Amino acid sequence: MKYDYDIVIVGAGMAGATLAAMLTPLDLKVLLTDVEAPVPFTGGDTGVRVSALGRASARILDAAGAWSSIVAARAAPYRAMKVWDSGSSGELSFDAADAALTELGWIVENQLVQHALLERTAQSRTVRTAWRTDIEAAEFADDAVLVKTGGRVVRCALLVGADGANSQVRELAGIGAHAKGYGQRAVVAVVTTALPHQDTAWQRFLDGGPVALLPLPNGRCSLVWSLPDADAARVLVLDEAAFCAELSAAIEHRLGPVTAAGPRAAFPLSRMHADEYVAPRCALIGDAAHVVHPLAGQGANLGLLDAAALAESLQDAVRAGATPGAWHALRRYARWRRAHNAVMQEMLDAFHRVFMSTNPLLRSLRGAGLNAVNRLGPVKTQMVRYATGEQGDLPAAARPRAGFR
Ligand SMILES: Cc1cc2nc3c(=O)[nH]c(=O)nc-3n(C[C@H](O)[C@H](O)[C@H](O)COP(=O)(O)OP(=O)(O)OC[C@H]3O[C@@H](n4cnc5c(N)ncnc54)[C@H](O)[C@@H]3O)c2cc1C
Repeated sequence: MKYDYDIVIVGAGMAGATLAAMLTPLDLKVLLTDVEAPVPFTGGDTGVRVSALGRASARILDAAGAWSSIVAARAAPYRAMKVWDSGSSGELSFDAADAALTELGWIVENQLVQHALLERTAQSRTVRTAWRTDIEAAEFADDAVLVKTGGRVVRCALLVGADGANSQVRELAGIGAHAKGYGQRAVVAVVTTALPHQDTAWQRFLDGGPVALLPLPNGRCSLVWSLPDADAARVLVLDEAAFCAELSAAIEHRLGPVTAAGPRAAFPLSRMHADEYVAPRCALIGDAAHVVHPLAGQGANLGLLDAAALAESLQDAVRAGATPGAWHALRRYARWRRAHNAVMQEMLDAFHRVFMSTNPLLRSLRGAGLNAVNRLGPVKTQMVRYATGEQGDLPAAARPRAGFR
């Protein structure tokens, strides 16, 4: 069968770029497209979009050939997490040492992760890229997909949708999705606090949503503040002093007053799950397949696990002589990842409901629950495993290996 490309990946965010980089060792022709042109990472001001990446994600990015340049540029390890509740006396702290680890994960700029992955694909002879390119149409047949992109039609064995929450590939493949808005926005900014962050991720649950300060390499913190839509719109336009004062109170002055805040941005929060992760000759990964609330910083971690699982399924199929779009490989990927992501999504949703509740009984129960978990070593260790992405049937690239953390 003659293909222009074996695989066309639509979307070069963290999930799509990871998949492309992980496919470079295979002798497959890959086209990676994005409707935007990636912004080069210059090492200037810290970007407002950051992700807390767990150890499993670090291993995947290492397997993709990107981790060493991410760490060499800037990544802040976080060694502890403190979570507390404004509606009860509940408080929970995790320390990497509780699970005999040196860190729980790293706070990394999304743009840096993408940049490091694309540097890797640029070195490959098999991955081509096309920026500022949309998918105009896709025609799915038994043995190929005809993709109209950039004014021409390319024939490929597999079309991968890594094009985010409003995935066009998902729509073209006729895959439905269930989505729900939380009526909240996450306000993000880089902020300065009077006291050092102590390599700790701080998160307080408030009636309107959680506020988190995540440690950055330069001693500053990355803010993720989930607020009801109207409150988010209001704090976005406060002057800097008023914004800092309100934020200091929201985080209960745990790091002293917030003394400065950089430019702010806000992102609407929703959950979404695609009804299927695959269709004949098509697979979805990352936010194109699932969107979760950022309260536990899991979205990108799940997307990287998808990319690694799909790469492994395709690699095994191709090495056994099948085409990259072989149905059994796609089914294996979908079975592997959908159930895992569904459990995580339900867990995060339950967390969200419990912490948004103003019911006094539930509030005192959740306070007691947090304090009880805080005292239970084995439960905490298990929660650390979840938080660091070391739970479940991991793709080979995400498993601990000699020579890497
Ligand atoms: C405030 C906030 C904080 C978060 N914090 C964390 C965290 O700490 N840890 C964590 O793991 N996750 C976190 N997340 C989630 C994480 O940001 C996302 O899950 C992740 O960025 C999704 O990556 P992706 O590559 O799947 O999709 P995206 O990042 O959405 O990338 C999709 C790409 O596809 C391109 N595209 C879109 N449409 C088309 C098209 N038609 N044709 C071609 N290209 C197209 C886009 O330009 C983009 O480059 C957070 C999310 C938010 C909102």
